[in-house]
Formats: sequence, structure tokens, C-alpha cells
Amino acid sequence: MHTLVIGGGLAGLAASVLLARHGVSVTLVEARPRLGGRAASFRDSTTGQWIDLCQHVAMGCCTQLLQFFRSLGLQRYLAKQERLVFLTRDGRRSYFRADPWPAPLHLSRALLAAHYLTPAEKFRVLRGLNALLRCDPQDDQPLEPWLRTHGQTDRTIRRFWNTVLVSALNDSVTALGRKYARKVFVDGFLRQRDGWVVYLPVVPLDRLYGDELRLFFARHNVAVRCQTRVRRLLMDPHAPRVVGAELRDGTVLQADHYVVAVPFQCLTDLLPPSVFDQFPCFAAVRQLQPSSITSVHLWYDRPILPWPHAVVVDGVCQWLFRRVSNSHDEDAPSPGSCVKTSGGSGAWADGGGERYPIRWPTAETKTHYLQVVISASTPWRSIGHAGLQQEVIQELKQLLPAARTARLLHSRVVTEHAATFRPLPGVDRYRPGQATPLYNLTLAGDWTDTGWPATMESAVRSGYLAAQVVLNRMGRPVCLNLS
Ligand SMILES: Cc1cc2nc3c(=O)[nH]c(=O)nc-3n(C[C@H](O)[C@H](O)[C@H](O)COP(=O)(O)OP(=O)(O)OC[C@H]3O[C@@H](n4cnc5c(N)ncnc54)[C@H](O)[C@@H]3O)c2cc1C
Repeated sequence: MHTLVIGGGLAGLAASVLLARHGVSVTLVEARPRLGGRAASFRDSTTGQWIDLCQHVAMGCCTQLLQFFRSLGLQRYLAKQERLVFLTRDGRRSYFRADPWPAPLHLSRALLAAHYLTPAEKFRVLRGLNALLRCDPQDDQPLEPWLRTHGQTDRTIRRFWNTVLVSALNDSVTALGRKYARKVFVDGFLRQRDGWVVYLPVVPLDRLYGDELRLFFARHNVAVRCQTRVRRLLMDPHAPRVVGAELRDGTVLQADHYVVAVPFQCLTDLLPPSVFDQFPCFAAVRQLQPSSITSVHLWYDRPILPWPHAVVVDGVCQWLFRRVSNSHDEDAPSPGSCVKTSGGSGAWADGGGERYPIRWPTAETKTHYLQVVISASTPWRSIGHAGLQQEVIQELKQLLPAARTARLLHSRVVTEHAATFRPLPGVDRYRPGQATPLYNLTLAGDWTDTGWPATMESAVRSGYLAAQVVLNRMGRPVCLNLS
């Protein structure tokens, strides 16, 4: 029995891993040159450095993602952050860390220490959290009116709820449904002690999901074909089943089972209109809406962020990451996010409205790479990448004293317009399950029905669930415990 997995993002990777572990013969096809999908890296032409399209963060509550890493020996590439740093534009900061008390008390002192809320606001926030913990987990009414009826003000919404939720769910509190907002707080902060702990990859994502996974696949006879785009799936005219996957060059790949693990907006290209007309679960996917994330990559001549990361409260920037050693490269920079290479490009970089000639890179030049992440970035579209970068640079000067005198050597802004689906109220009615009415077609992807918002955790869960459906349909039932 052979399975064709279409899409080499985390969902397709997880499905392939589980199928391969059960001895199923798998071919994995990916349209791009690299595996990893949205969690991928690219080589910056100026620095020669492998950089991630965007920093990807895992949390302690992402149990299946962390298990996926552990099972493949990848956890050694993750740095556990047991302290979060919160910054405000007045230059003040507070540290968020757990006490050795049972959940949810373990974080109460951290909340009380938050410098960006007044004592009365902290009381309001605690009241809101308490109400959230007690409400129906499945009820997905609009969040903002609910927060207001539970004592939240403009300031607590901006400074507390938005700070956590915009980066976790990639949408603003004014648009979100209550279900996934509740999940973020309950799973991340209230139910278990380690749910909030953040894990940062210490190698480019391309190494994590590309090179390391390829080794596993080579050992488990999974055929990986990158730069192989499926143009469409061919349907049996007499039965609800797929008979082949036609590639761009007209070649047809055939398998007993097909796992489609592409982003939701690509599904329409693969399936014929008749399938959407006949089966409402496919048609519903068209109602999902995308939300964008922008990352601003900045290279300075000196360190400006004294911690591995920082969370910005009520700012343009949301998360700052000081990236560590880029050991993926042959000519990798030494640890500490310094690039040391030879040759010079004489490129120009924008910095604070002025234009600096940069000597890049020289043997003597040490650079310090900072990544700024702005989730739900669609409202910034009107000022363009250059305008947004200026806003970020100005804000960094308010947040970090070292940024006022540091020289910006190089910069890059990347926007992923369809970064995630928007978790609007009631969104789950548009998310299909992994099993479809087509006998040998299974869906995977962070947008399928996993009970999670669009995250790496959701992608891995969907891949496991899709593999489970395939194995069941092959008559080799497996029981997954995805709690
Ligand atoms: C900027 C950004 C920041 C993010 N930050 C975080 C974070 O910090 N933490 C977190 O948990 N999540 C984060 N996410 C979300 C996370 O990246 C996704 O939820 C997850 O990677 C989705 O995996 P997937 O396999 O479902 O889809 P994808 O990664 O999109 O994979 C689908 C793959 O299918 C391929 N494909 C499409 N069409 C075809 C075709 N016709 N033939 C063959 N292949 C095809 C695509 O090239 C792609 O590789 C972020 C996303 C973005 C964009």
C-alpha cells in the first residue's frame, strides 16, 4: 500500500513520519525547493546567512509538537525560555516567571509584578481570567464585548489581552472569537505549570525541518521530491475516489491513498469544482480568511537586545528576538549572532531615515541580528515595508537604550500575507476533519479540524490524525492519544 503526501510543511512531515513508522511506503512531494512550508528559512543574499522567514516559537502546551521534536531527536535544537521579558516604550521592563506553586497560582506573582498595569487593572485582569476559565470552552462568541461585560477597559485590552492574543492567534481582540482566546490562556497559563514556557529554535528552521527530517526519511524509505508541484488531482468518474496526482509537467503519480497537506487557499486548485459542489465540507474551506505576519530583520553593528527575546507591550513591535548562532552554514557565523565572512558588497541599508554606506561583510565586521515580529500586520499595509521599518526602528530606540547609538547595517522586511487563518467567531464550522467523503483522500494542515488555532501544534496534530485515518482505512487501526 503506497501513500502520496502532497505538501512538505509540518502537517505533511508529521503524516509522513507516522506512516513511515508504521511501515507504510510514502512519497512526499513539495512544490518548493525546501521542506518546512511556512516554517522555513531562506539565504539572505547580502549576509549569506540562513534566516527564518519568521521566528517560530513553540510553547510548553504544544504537547504534540514537542513530542514530534523529541521522537526525532530534535529537542536539542530548542532553547527553553523560563523567563519572559516584557518591555514598554518608557524604557521600563518586567520579568515573567513561574513560582514553584501549583497552577494556576504559579503565575500570580508574575502578573502582580507586571509594571505595565496598575493594581486596579491587575485586579480587573484577574477577574476576566477567572471568568474565562469558568466559561464554556466550545462557545465561540465575539471576544471583545464579552471582555467588556467582564470588567475590561481599553487599557487592559490593549496592554494585557492584545499583548498575549495578537501574537498567539494572529488577530486583534476586536475580531477574535472567545473559544481560541480561552484556549490560549487556559492551556498556556492556567491549567498546567509549564504551558507558558517558550521554546526558541537555535538553528534555522530549514535545518530543523529540512536536513534533520531528510535523514529520518532516508532511513525509513520515504521518497522526498522537492520542486514537485501537483497541478491537480484526477478523480475516478464512477466513484468518489482519487486515481492520480498530475504534476506540472503532465506526469501522473499514483498511490493507494492521498494525503493533501497544502495551505487552505491551495485546495481549490487541486480539486475539481464538482467536488466542491458535491461535498459541503470542501466548499466550507473557502470561507476561511487569511491573516498576515510581518517580520523585520535588522543587522546592527553592536548588540542592542540584552536578552534572547522580549515581548513589547502596546507597541508596533510585538516580539523581539536576538538570534543565536547560525551553524547551518558552511561559512556560519560564530555563536552569539555575529556574522564574520570575507568580501564586501558595498550595499546600502536604510537606517532611521538616513542612508549609510555599509561595508558588508568584512573579516573585521561583527554584526548583531535582531528579528522583530508583527502579527496581524494587515493594517500596516498602507504605509508599506519602508514605512513600517521606520516605525520599528524608532520604537526600538524608545525600548532599548543601545539602539539609540547603534548603527543599522542591513535590513529586510518579509510579509507572509496568508500566514494563518483568522480565528473569527465560529471559525470551526469551516474547518473540515481529516477524513473526507472521498474514500482514499485525507486532509492535513493547520486549518483542518484539530481543536487548535493555526500553529505548528495544529499542523503536527493534523498530520498525525490524517495518518491515523489512512492507517484505519488500510485496515491497520492505530489509537492515537493526542491529549
Ligand atoms: C510568519 C509566520 C510566523 C509564524 N509563527 C509561528 C509561531 O511562532 N508558532 C507557531 O506555532 N506557528 C507559527 N506560524 C504558523 C505555522 O507556520 C503554521 O501553522 C504551520 O507551519 C503550518 O504547517 P502546514 O503544514 O499546515 O502548512 P504549510 O507550512 O503551509 O505547508 C504546506 C506545504 O504545501 C506545499 N504546497 C502547496 N501547494 C502544493 C502543491 N500543489 N503541490 C505540492 N506542494 C504544495 C507548500 O509549498 C507548503 O510547503 C507562523 C506562520 C507564519 C507564516
